[in-house]
Amino acid sequence: MSLDNRYTGGCQCGAVRFRVEGTLGDASICHCRMCQKASGNFYLPLVSVRGARLDWTRGEPKRFRSSSAAWRGFCAECGTPLTFEAPDGVALAIAAFDDPAGIAPTIQWGVEAKLPYVDGIPKLPSEATMADISSAPYLAELVSYQHPDHDTDRWPPEERP
Ligand SMILES: [Zn+2]
Ligand SMILES: [Zn+2]
Repeated sequence: MSLDNRYTGGCQCGAVRFRVEGTLGDASICHCRMCQKASGNFYLPLVSVRGARLDWTRGEPKRFRSSSAAWRGFCAECGTPLTFEAPDGVALAIAAFDDPAGIAPTIQWGVEAKLPYVDGIPKLPSEATMADISSAPYLAELVSYQHPDHDTDRWPPEERP
């Protein structure tokens, strides 16, 4: 987490980048069915930026109106979920931040829709990515096209195979 209350982040492809200046609000995860669909995932981790300044420093999310009360912002190029936007403010997807490790959720919402196996995940067998190298040899020569976890002057780089 930055000490000067300045945070950056963006989508996987780098077409959309944001900067937050100020104090982050509540960090949460939401298990509700809408957050499951909007993230394509078991639950959606969000942090409120209601009390801070949010600027889109490259591109801007495309938005889907998921209900009469809210819009969901995402990168139109790569699909990364980025925002939950309601009349009382905007929340950003925690893992879209360049340094998400410092933004720990403190509450769970929407638990009526919590999927039955979520609580068992910490007990599953655990392996590092490269532990799968024998069954997925392409990992050894993998080249990432993901935007790095910091701002860039130009993206993507000119040369790419
Ligand atoms: Zn993108
Ligand atoms: Zn939700």
